[in-house]
Amino acid sequence: LSRVAQYHSGSMVNSGAKVPLGLKRKSLRVVVTGGAGFVGSHLVDRLMARGDSVIVVDNFFTGRKENVLHHFGNPRFELIRHDVVEPLLLEVDQIYHLACPASPVHYKHNPVKTIKTNVVGTLNMLGLAKRVGARFLLTSTSEVYGDPLEHPQTEAYWGNVNPIGVRSCYDEGKRTAETLTMDYHRGANVEVRIARIFNTYGPRMCLDDGRVVSNFVAQALRKEPLTVYGDGKQTRSFQYVSDLVEGLMRLMEGEHVGPFNLGNPGEFTMLELAQVVKETIDPNAKIEFRPNTEDDPHKRKPDITKAKDLLGWQPKVSLRKGLPLMVEDFRRRVFGDEKDGSI
Ligand code: NAD
Ligand code: UDP
Ligand code: UDP
Repeated sequence: LSRVAQYHSGSMVNSGAKVPLGLKRKSLRVVVTGGAGFVGSHLVDRLMARGDSVIVVDNFFTGRKENVLHHFGNPRFELIRHDVVEPLLLEVDQIYHLACPASPVHYKHNPVKTIKTNVVGTLNMLGLAKRVGARFLLTSTSEVYGDPLEHPQTEAYWGNVNPIGVRSCYDEGKRTAETLTMDYHRGANVEVRIARIFNTYGPRMCLDDGRVVSNFVAQALRKEPLTVYGDGKQTRSFQYVSDLVEGLMRLMEGEHVGPFNLGNPGEFTMLELAQVVKETIDPNAKIEFRPNTEDDPHKRKPDITKAKDLLGWQPKVSLRKGLPLMVEDFRRRVFGDEKDGSI
């Protein structure tokens, strides 16, 4: 059997969920698209630490070389500047497909490019998975639930999404990416996994990405007012990045296709979040109200029962524990003495 075939037939020690993460296993060749970005670079750190060979494919739209600089020179690490909208030939065992701008500011910047990345980019990576028999994991999003009419959201909920709005390039793009993933699974027997990721924060988030956690943390450090959009009563659930990476790896190694919600069920209003940021960084920080953006979902909170039951996963890091873990990285970058991303 080829290495790939052995892997998928379950005869290798690392197949399925039988070997707990962290135990000795045969090294795999893994592609991480979007691996120079925020989530991707933390995932790459874990894959490198467990001994895999990692190929990062990234066009550096929102990703940065600094995020993976500490792996340069390691023979198990490769970085390819490539846009997933173009076809790509590689020989690999697993594909973590993350390439896609994630923050509203970035994905609205060029909406047509965003939807091409989600549709054509995902199609290409599924074509690659089919050709080489690799296992494929899609990082979808809680945005597939749109402005949800069910609360909290389970994976069985089909969503309430505006197909023609300013966020549609992202949320409809991800919905199509999920459809493609399931069609390659059913039609071409590609082994697939789907994660629906809820708001995630941590070191290496883009400083200028407009997301609420990065905005508030950077504002508090700069002694600027925290900008709360709308009345600040809308809610989100914030997950620390190490919890997400653990969930993604368990999903990839496990036996279940998904989709799985990966998020922290702790739900906060934006005013509560502002309060936690104040307590963490600057108790004297002021709050400034701004008009909210169009189509902003009112509330969002994952039901993670399925991931708990089938992946044995749940988040460990609360917002109050996680926020301080990103402050040092942000301080270094806000005040401009960053050297690399080795956190
Ligand atoms: P990010 O913007 O930091 O990372 C995305 C990476 O993809 C960047 O390195 C970027 O340069 C790269 N990229 C974008 N378009 C590309 C293209 N056409 N070809 C090659 N590379 C491309 O965002 P992130 O927060 O790390 O998100 C990673 C994934 O997780 C995304 O798919 C996103 O939709 C999903 N997700 C993230 C969150 C979150 O809260 N961070 C929530 C839900 C889903
Ligand atoms: N593809 C790719 N790398 C590969 C195999 C396929 O980028 O190793 C791309 C290919 O160019 C195509 C897409 O993936 O645009 C879908 O491939 P598939 O073989 O499923 O479809 P087809 O080429 O038959 O349309
Ligand atoms: N938000 C805010 N102040 C900011 C940035 C965002 O109050 O400086 C709000 C935004 O209106 C939304 C929530 O925070 O209700 C989360 O926004 P984000 O862009 O972080 O994520 P998403 O909308 O994709 O969940």
